[in-house]
Amino acid sequence: MSSTGVSQSMGNKGTGNESANRNEGTDGLPVSLESCLLDLRQAEETIRQQQRLLYQSEAQHNLLFDSLDEGFCTVEVLFDNADQSIDYRFLKVNGVFEAQIGIENPLGRTMREIAPEHEQYWFEMLGRIALTGKSQRLEHWANALERFYDIYAFRVGDPMDRQVAILFKDITARKRQEELQAYLLRLNDALRSLSDPIQVQDVVTHLAMEYLGVDRCYYCEIEEGNAIIRRDAFRADLPSVANVYPLSDFPILSTVINAGHPFVVFDAHTTELLDDRLRQLCLQTQAISFVDIPVIKDDSPCGILCVTCCEPRKWRKEEIELARETAERTWIAVEQARAAEALRESEENYRAIVNQSIAGILKIGLEGNMLFTNDQFCRMLGYEGAELLAMHVNRIVYPEDHERNAAAFHGLVSEGRAYEIEKRFVRKEGAIIWVNNHVSPIFNNKGEVDAAVIVSIDITRQKELERQKDEFIGIASHELKTPITSIKAYGQILAAMIDQSSVPPTFTQLLTKMNAQIDRLIKLIYSLLNTSRIAGNQLTLQLEPINLNGLLEEHVRQGQLTTSRHRITFIGEELPPVMADVERMGQVMDNLISNAIKYAPKGGDVIVRAESRGGWVRVSIRDFGVGIPKEAQEKIFDRFYRVNDASAGGTSGIGLGLYICREIISRHQGQMAVESIPDEGSTFYFELPVYTERQ
Ligand code: ADP
Repeated sequence: MSSTGVSQSMGNKGTGNESANRNEGTDGLPVSLESCLLDLRQAEETIRQQQRLLYQSEAQHNLLFDSLDEGFCTVEVLFDNADQSIDYRFLKVNGVFEAQIGIENPLGRTMREIAPEHEQYWFEMLGRIALTGKSQRLEHWANALERFYDIYAFRVGDPMDRQVAILFKDITARKRQEELQAYLLRLNDALRSLSDPIQVQDVVTHLAMEYLGVDRCYYCEIEEGNAIIRRDAFRADLPSVANVYPLSDFPILSTVINAGHPFVVFDAHTTELLDDRLRQLCLQTQAISFVDIPVIKDDSPCGILCVTCCEPRKWRKEEIELARETAERTWIAVEQARAAEALRESEENYRAIVNQSIAGILKIGLEGNMLFTNDQFCRMLGYEGAELLAMHVNRIVYPEDHERNAAAFHGLVSEGRAYEIEKRFVRKEGAIIWVNNHVSPIFNNKGEVDAAVIVSIDITRQKELERQKDEFIGIASHELKTPITSIKAYGQILAAMIDQSSVPPTFTQLLTKMNAQIDRLIKLIYSLLNTSRIAGNQLTLQLEPINLNGLLEEHVRQGQLTTSRHRITFIGEELPPVMADVERMGQVMDNLISNAIKYAPKGGDVIVRAESRGGWVRVSIRDFGVGIPKEAQEKIFDRFYRVNDASAGGTSGIGLGLYICREIISRHQGQMAVESIPDEGSTFYFELPVYTERQ
């Protein structure tokens, strides 16, 4: 642009009125001189214009440099006679230079003057660039400046000037953050695989010691007034401090705990944080500078992480933060390891208990797959554990018991109901064993049934004894039945034959008593016989549609004949027919009415009621006698079960009546139960399905 301006003015000169001005100008000067001066003025103006432009461009240039957020400088590299770069002088710096480098007024000064300990590395690098013109980009730590820099350096100007421009940025904060991240990652990696709390302390202290470059690092756990150092990392020439320290004897530990935040000492000789006693202690143990981090959880101290140097040290904020982070992670890792250790121990205990149990223990999934078996269960079934775990539970359940088993298991899955069941298992070699299984649901954390645990007791021997007992009862009662029937007949004949006037009255009384006892004996024998028939599944029924009203009235009447202290009332209504065996139903009624009389020894009302309820006929026998305790109300239907009070109270019986009654009712597709309040009385009731033509 400036050159165009010049050439234009020169051009004007050539295109002016040359002939008119050739000899004399307007100022009276000779025309040629005047035109010369004009040219000169124009040239001066052009130069001024050029200078203005130059200043402008330079100002823009400087503005650009100064507004860079990166530091910029130009240096002249200084060499010795052997062309070795030995120093550099600052020629130009931008606005942020001082802030980035931390050097004031550098212009004209050399780096060696400013920072004599600046590393040789920097001189060599800049020398190389000045000589070769090969630019370089790098991230590097500058010791003397205590900072990390990201640098781009390139040669500028004439190579002979050996000038290098350096564009740089202080990346100390980023670098430290990266290092901290890398350290924490390493720490995490190291801790992840550890399950031993002592090993955790070992690894942490060594890593922290290496990273922070300290002379000693330890983590003490605070337990019951003691600080326990189980592991410490220390410089080779120092002794270990692993030991148990009562807090009362080591006030420095209490001081740290009470501080509740990082306790930082730069120099134990001079710090005001320590009193004379603590200072002496620190000096004795060569703990000249240290950072102690208390770990406090739920307001109680749990641990202290200590990093210590034998020389004074000015701890940086990031270092203190790092120690704090390390302490926190150590505590978490130690706690996790402790919890895992406790879990392992409890699992071992549990395994030992489970395997030494005399009961077989089995865990099954909802599909019936076996998930766990204890040793005893394997012994009971004759399989190896691994064999069982590969099988479905149905393979060991006796086929005839599948249906019953499945129904009970269904209740557990759908309603979470535990149950008890007697059933048969088939051993590996084919033998059948009887077991009593307690089956309980296992819930997941959503409260759903997830699996079931089965505690299984082998009752094969007990079952065999029961079978032998049933067999004996069956044979004995059968063998007794014939002679006793004959005795009863003879008794009746005798009673009919005697002439009451010719025998003493005691004779007649004794004969009546004998016949009554024979009746009791016969009842007993029939009870035993029925029991053995029930056990052998041989109780036969002669079913026919009947109206219960007549039968009930008849048995109420007979019952009333046996007692004068009770009043037995029948309350009936129009009843639909039921399908029943008259003799067996009579047996049930006799039993229930005689119990109502027997267990209300003081006498009173007995109410027999029959009513129609939906598709059922319900019969209840209510007394106001001794009642039955809650816990015995289901058991009284078991064979040979008698409530303690009953036997203690002197009422005779062998505990078979209700067992037989319930069996008879259930053979009629009905159900039987009791409601009772001790000392107030009991109501036994049963329900039979109404007979319909379609049946
Ligand atoms: P038994 O009467 O021969 O002992 P049961 O099987 O008829 O046998 O009765 C079993 C037990 O139930 C009795 O021993 C008694 O403890 C209890 N029991 C039965 N009926 C009643 C009742 N009406 N009131 C109180 N307890 C009863």
